[in-house]
Amino acid sequence: MSTLLEMSGVSVSFDGFKAINNLSFQIGEPEMRAIIGPNGAGKTTFMDIITGKTRPDEGRVIFGEKSMSLLGMSESQIARAGVGRKFQKPTVFEAQTVRENFALALKNPRSPFDVLLHRKTPAGADRIEALAEQVGLSDQLPRMAGELSHGQKQWLEIGMLLAQDPRLLLVDEPAAGMTPAEREKTTDILVAAAQKHAVVVVEHDMEFVRRLNCKVTVLNEGSVLAEGSLDHVTNNPDVIDVYLGR
Ligand code: ADP
Repeated sequence: MSTLLEMSGVSVSFDGFKAINNLSFQIGEPEMRAIIGPNGAGKTTFMDIITGKTRPDEGRVIFGEKSMSLLGMSESQIARAGVGRKFQKPTVFEAQTVRENFALALKNPRSPFDVLLHRKTPAGADRIEALAEQVGLSDQLPRMAGELSHGQKQWLEIGMLLAQDPRLLLVDEPAAGMTPAEREKTTDILVAAAQKHAVVVVEHDMEFVRRLNCKVTVLNEGSVLAEGSLDHVTNNPDVIDVYLGR
């Protein structure tokens, strides 16, 4: 596993308040990582920095084997470099079928190189069926996306992101609002994706994090408070303090 993303000494202030404070973080490719931390810990701002939505005041954000700096790149350039983001609320084309949603995602490749590849192997039925299978929607392809359950919409969106072949996938609270069975299936989809991609999951549900069975990074006050297995971090007295309140 080689390092894909490396952040060091990153800080961001909003009106003098340090939302991210001298943060350092690394993730490999492929790798699954869970990010936990109390409200206001800086989890959203952390993802906003990676995607280029928020510019840090200080620090480095380096991506890929060519050590490309993501700072100074636009959000769309960062997306094209291979960073995909899934927000908490599903955003799919409700008035299109599941098949059309996948087809649209495949038609929107992130690099010109992909366009060439897709010309050779058109964004055809095979690719759509493979994606549908990957996210457990094989039997839903003809349905309107708007008719899907909340969980199915989330899987469709994950599949649409995977269609872009991201190198790093940022996923915000995928289990929110899901039934236990849907949560379990979501874990399977993300764990399978993390065999190939770097996947960062921000999640409050500790049972969900446990099932991801991966390294956990705990953020607090804009910095990394602890890192390691879920058992390791949840036994850390500083983490217990933060969660139970001082
Ligand atoms: P989390 O996602 O872990 O709940 P956030 O990254 O949303 O944390 O926020 C970290 C801190 O930064 C919070 O105290 C929040 O109020 C503050 N913050 C985030 N974005 C802004 C902003 N645009 N303007 C002012 N303060 C902000």
